[in-house]
Amino acid sequence: MDRYAVIGSPIGHTKSPLIHTAFAKNSGQALEYTALEAPLGGFAAAATAFREAGGRGMNVTAPFKLDAFAYATDLTDRAHLAGAVNALKFEGGKVYADNFDGVGLLRDVEQNLGRLMCGKRVLLMGGGGAARGALQPFLAAQPAELVLVNRTAEKAQALAAQFAPYGNIVGLGYADLDHRSFDIVVNATSASLRSELPPVHTDVFRPDSLAYELAYGKGLTPFLRLAQGAGVGRLADGVGMLVEQAAKAFFWWRGVRPDTRPMIAQLTVPLT
Ligand code: NDP
Repeated sequence: MDRYAVIGSPIGHTKSPLIHTAFAKNSGQALEYTALEAPLGGFAAAATAFREAGGRGMNVTAPFKLDAFAYATDLTDRAHLAGAVNALKFEGGKVYADNFDGVGLLRDVEQNLGRLMCGKRVLLMGGGGAARGALQPFLAAQPAELVLVNRTAEKAQALAAQFAPYGNIVGLGYADLDHRSFDIVVNATSASLRSELPPVHTDVFRPDSLAYELAYGKGLTPFLRLAQGAGVGRLADGVGMLVEQAAKAFFWWRGVRPDTRPMIAQLTVPLT
């Protein structure tokens, strides 16, 4: 049976085996999908051992997305631009690498939540791997303006300069937001993982905004609570992104596009 795995450290919390096993069952694909924990600094050895044992592909999660980038022999443009890899495919001695986080996020926002970015004002908060992976897919969706805001403003400015050839993007610090409001506000910082709130003002929200939190399974994070308190009617967490990026990887490996809706419904935790 074809073998796949998700690799990370720690990995106990992962939903990927559940998601991919359900995708396989529902699409009639015979495969085995497991979780693999590797020690810090041990990514390459673990990935090589998995390949040599017949592994066909891997999802890669924290903290190994940069290690996977270095391990790849063939990177897609998207992975190259993201500077990180979240999926590997082992074929004929090659290690193909892609990054589906950003396109998974975009698909969740546009297809599942029904908020097309074209012509809209979009605020993306954060300057780490997840934000970086979203930049090119977001710009390809042609928002009127994409504002990237980060605690370390220089990082946002540098990323905006790098991605300027792909669309209308500006990089700012939070203090520079200056009462601007947005149609779509995405929290791609890691603040919620520590129950912290990025230093964003409620002015960024309008009642018809979408407030999207990348962290998932945490209920109402401080960011979502802020949005709710500001009267925002549509709140979402990152469970749809998680399932959609998994579906993209599954399609890349197996050539079959799984139905994501049952899995999103199964994993969704009420935002209360
Ligand atoms: P990184 O560690 O790469 O980046 C974290 C970013 O958050 C940095 O830019 C940092 O700013 C910023 N930050 C951290 N704390 C604060 C704070 N208190 N206030 C303001 N900014 C802050 O993390 P990732 O990009 O990998 O992950 C970001 C989030 O996305 C996490 O919650 C993660 O769980 C989630 N995620 C969800 C996925 C999904 O499928 N739903 C997939 C991948 C990630 P600075 O640069 O100034 O240090």
